[in-house]
Amino acid sequence: MYGGMPIPQHTSLTMQHAIAGSLPDTPPPPVTAQRPDADSSNSRAEAVVDGPRPNSVPPPPVPPREGPRTPQPPKVKTPQTRLRAQSEPPSPTSTDGNGEKRQCSGMTTAGKRCRNRVKPSGAQAHTDSDVFCRIHANKMGEPSGFYDRKTGQTFIKFSDWVPEYLQPATQIALRAEMQKARALSDVDGYIYAFEILDPDEKKLINLKVGRATNLNRRMDQWGKQCGSKEQILRGFWPGGMGKEGVPMKGLVQAGPKGPWCHRLERLVHIELADLATSAPYLEAGYPKVEASKEVDKGSKRDVKKCPDCSTMHKEIFTFERATKGRYKGKEWESIVKPVIEKWGGFVEAYL
Ligand SMILES: [Zn+2]
Ligand SMILES: [Zn+2]
Repeated sequence: MYGGMPIPQHTSLTMQHAIAGSLPDTPPPPVTAQRPDADSSNSRAEAVVDGPRPNSVPPPPVPPREGPRTPQPPKVKTPQTRLRAQSEPPSPTSTDGNGEKRQCSGMTTAGKRCRNRVKPSGAQAHTDSDVFCRIHANKMGEPSGFYDRKTGQTFIKFSDWVPEYLQPATQIALRAEMQKARALSDVDGYIYAFEILDPDEKKLINLKVGRATNLNRRMDQWGKQCGSKEQILRGFWPGGMGKEGVPMKGLVQAGPKGPWCHRLERLVHIELADLATSAPYLEAGYPKVEASKEVDKGSKRDVKKCPDCSTMHKEIFTFERATKGRYKGKEWESIVKPVIEKWGGFVEAYL
């Protein structure tokens, strides 16, 4: 899949734990819950692009966790039959971040939708995440976890997946998104990430992170829509997040799709919007930092503006670059990519 590059061996879950345990200062390690065939070889990946997934062994029990930010979901078999989308979803230029009030997504004791209207947080204004009034946010914050949707047998602890450096409203939104029933319209697909190069801007990095059911077509579309700035593919899930780098647009040979890319995109967008607006990774001690108390600290940042066409795409995330420390120049590898891998692993294992 990557020309003459060596094919990486997948690290076992145990090894990942060992690695994670030996690097206490690193940010949340990526969850590599890829299927065994995800990027194993050219011919294999090519042959099964649209075919059924091979059977794999049943999921092993999730090992006990060393720390709160090292989720390592098990490798699991995904369902064999799925509806497939015939065409790409449109890419609306939505969520302009104007912060209009939204209705609380909570339910009353009478079983009706809560009527309270809530001003979304700075980060939430940039996504279509659910919002919750104070009463429902408090309720949502109480449970320590939930049983997974897929088997009903694995207890998923929120603290393993939702970092404390995210804003409280973001944490609640992620809890809600993790537990939701799967939408009937959800489909298999990919999450891709482009960097939009802006040679005049040294302090920011612009990443376009979205979903696609046809990766190459989607990349082609973006090239036409926002074509004056160069767009470099940084990675795609599943199968294209490896350390060996990713091929150029036009040379991408996508392997099997990942499950439920709509949900995956929402989880990823919710977390990335928070990271872009609040930039906790710029604080000393990250990731062991608490959420900033200034809730709307970053809301003035133009985190969604396309540096090319200047409109707001819901896929665009602009991150302030680290000027020093271990994240300098590694905003993609160390901050954004692990978020995609983490939620990719979650959706694959538990949804
Ligand atoms: Zn409410
Ligand atoms: Zn644009």
